[in-house]
Amino acid sequence: FSKGGSSGENSAISVAVRVRPLTQREQQVGTKCVVSLSGKEILIHHPHTNRQLTFSYDYCFGSQNPEDKGYASQEVVYCLLAQPLLDKVFEGYNTCLFAYGQTGSGKSYTMTGYADEVGIIPRFCKEIFWKVNLTQQEEEKHHIELSYFEVYNERIHDLLSSKDANAKKKALKVREHPILGPYVTGLSTYVVGSFADVQTWLELGNKQRATAATSMNERSSRSHSVFKLVVAQTKREHLEGEAHDHMLVSHVNLVDLSGSERCNLAQTSGLRTQEGASINKSLLTLGKVISALSEMSQFKRKCFIPYRDSVLTWLLKESLGGNSKTAMIATISPTAAHVEETLSTLRYASQAR
Ligand code: ADP
Repeated sequence: FSKGGSSGENSAISVAVRVRPLTQREQQVGTKCVVSLSGKEILIHHPHTNRQLTFSYDYCFGSQNPEDKGYASQEVVYCLLAQPLLDKVFEGYNTCLFAYGQTGSGKSYTMTGYADEVGIIPRFCKEIFWKVNLTQQEEEKHHIELSYFEVYNERIHDLLSSKDANAKKKALKVREHPILGPYVTGLSTYVVGSFADVQTWLELGNKQRATAATSMNERSSRSHSVFKLVVAQTKREHLEGEAHDHMLVSHVNLVDLSGSERCNLAQTSGLRTQEGASINKSLLTLGKVISALSEMSQFKRKCFIPYRDSVLTWLLKESLGGNSKTAMIATISPTAAHVEETLSTLRYASQAR
């Protein structure tokens, strides 16, 4: 019996786990589920050792598998995990939400969604504009910019570039501004005035992501995609008859991480390729960064955070530590065949709490 994580009260990060349903094929062949839910706990019935392992998180989201209980729709997942971050955006916090899990476990379903099953990214953007329109007045103005890119092999690829195909292929570099922090040089950023604007860019980015995936053989499972918003609010205050404007700027990063099986594969097989090494680096560094942050917030002590060890964590630096709120959703498969990957995902998620 082992228990993952401690009480989430002081956590820097809120952590959720979501179980995907059995696929049609899995149902047809009578695949058994080894995952069951009970409140904030996830139980894994290990098919080989027959042991039961228990992990606990801030939220456990079930699918419609009969064993799951606690079924959570796209809306419920959004409301419990993402909406609290949205409230923080308007208070001037940087926010970051990322999906971690093996390929095929539901990261894209959760972040982007399919057809009517809209995921977190579009819901988040829709609600930002709903809130902005509610408060937009003389005394309060908003300016929102977005960008969308992939981190693949420690290199950055713009998903919204309007340049020609040759320029598009060029990898972009990260630089660090002494005050504003890390940024990507030459990345396209667009001002958006409505949710419809966001949808246009999101569709284009997703299309470019899919094209890159086809041309590079499963690239989407090997790259991290980062959807980024910068929300600037200007509030006017009147002090002794004089008007003063002050500005709050928040960065929002919504990240669909690469398939975690690559991280384990690289670790266990000692994969020496450039790609294996860099995927390993991003996910392992992200793990180290979040566990260091969680230790810092739990024990109120300073420790070294290795942000610069990977491009992804370097870019997320301002949204992971300090004045920021972070959430993570770990997606898992319910089947016996995937139990080792599932356990490794659950351990990764536990170290964040
Ligand atoms: P990943 O992005 O992790 O590779 P996907 O999001 O593409 O995985 O999910 C794989 C498949 O499982 C898709 O067909 C998706 O629709 C389905 N799926 C995943 N999670 C869920 C869920 N919670 N509810 C319904 N279908 C899901």
